[in-house]
Amino acid sequence: MQLELPYSFLNSLQTVKGFDRNNFIEAHTLNKPVTSIRLNPAKLKNAKDDSFLASLLDEKVPWSKYGYYLKGRPSFTLDPWFHAGAYYVQEASSMFLEQALEQCLPKNIPLRILDLCAAPGGKSTHIQSVISPESLLVSNEVIKPRVNILTENITKWGACNVVVTNNDPKDFNRLPHFFDCIVVDAPCSGSGLFRKDPDAVTGWSLQAVNHCSQRQQRILADVMGALKPGGILIYSTCSYSYEENELISDWICESGEFTGMPVNPSQLNGIIETKSNLSKSPGYRFYPDKLKGEGFYISVFKKKGEANLLHEFKIKNKPELVSKSAQQILAAYFTHKNYFNFLKWQDDILAIPAPLFNAVLYLQQNLYIKKAGINMGQLIRDQLIPSHDLVLSKAMAPVLPLVKVNEQTALDFLRKKEIHIEASHKGWSILQYKGLPLGIIKILQGRINNYYPAAWRILNK
Ligand code: SAM
Repeated sequence: MQLELPYSFLNSLQTVKGFDRNNFIEAHTLNKPVTSIRLNPAKLKNAKDDSFLASLLDEKVPWSKYGYYLKGRPSFTLDPWFHAGAYYVQEASSMFLEQALEQCLPKNIPLRILDLCAAPGGKSTHIQSVISPESLLVSNEVIKPRVNILTENITKWGACNVVVTNNDPKDFNRLPHFFDCIVVDAPCSGSGLFRKDPDAVTGWSLQAVNHCSQRQQRILADVMGALKPGGILIYSTCSYSYEENELISDWICESGEFTGMPVNPSQLNGIIETKSNLSKSPGYRFYPDKLKGEGFYISVFKKKGEANLLHEFKIKNKPELVSKSAQQILAAYFTHKNYFNFLKWQDDILAIPAPLFNAVLYLQQNLYIKKAGINMGQLIRDQLIPSHDLVLSKAMAPVLPLVKVNEQTALDFLRKKEIHIEASHKGWSILQYKGLPLGIIKILQGRINNYYPAAWRILNK
């Protein structure tokens, strides 16, 4: 398809570093967007193990341990492992976040990280794969309907050190100096994704760029107080516009509170390093005519001051814990029996890693939490009604019987259809496809109940 880029757009980029008008236009008319995936190292060690993807695998994404290009774009919906959280389909340029995290975050200490603009969860699932299990990720999305897809993707990823919240950036003022790192993947004018979404071209205007730039400043101003002194701010967009990128870097540094940080240039591979006009802060630009990926910009900043490693916070309300006997029943569901504290949450039980427990309680008293740790399901008369969240979690012990199914039955299950399997046992069981759990079923006399979450079921034929 011929993609017509407006003159006003092309002209606005004329003085931007790395913009090469003819090659840029050619990349938007001739080249197809690239398809790439990022593995979930907790579930899939080797991309070739996914038989659905194996024949499509191409080279590795140079700046991510977990990223692979594909030779084509399959219907991921038809790969049961996609629904099991084995990988995430993600645009390759944005995987450079991994370099920023690896190079700029302190090592060997547990961190608290906020992904402020997180839906649908590309950056959050990536951050989770990079940080240590003792670190806590708060994955926030302000727009309510978008929190559902974020929660779905985080649940499938299967980690227990993530809290999903649905808050406005200014709500994070209630958590002064709480985070070691804040990632702001800001809403933007979206020009970097024109090749993937040609309809977005018509919505582009200089006015929209300026509007986005103002909004980006507001979002950053709202959240900066939640970052510790000495903490790391990572800012990114999928826009090419100077006003949304280097100008924002200058705005961040204007107060004197932040300094820009470089991300090792030896790994550039066609990435353009820029410097903002005033503060000379480094930023990294991705152009589709220079590398295999779409448009992207990322920059890293350090907040001045020394981090207070013993930063304390006050928990006002006593948590509603479960009884000692219930704790024993619940702990049996995990490989590491003493790793979790159990919290009542409406009718459900949350399993929260003990080292993160106080931080989660603090978040609970200040934010609107959509998901925290592992929602295990309901405990009724000492019997757990296990949840989808629990069986997709990597922390679960092998305590429920497995039912191994073929691709057709796996897809029927994911469509929430009735499924037929020969089983010699009754009761709660995990439906497994090629070694990865897909969800939970209950085997009864003469029928099988399918507990796949209705909202997540595959809708196509
Ligand atoms: N980080 C996500 C990922 O990698 O999957 C993509 C985030 S997208 C670029 C920007 C997000 O910011 C959207 O989910 C959007 O709903 C959210 N957003 C929109 N307006 C916002 C605002 N005023 N404050 C904070 N977030 C906002």
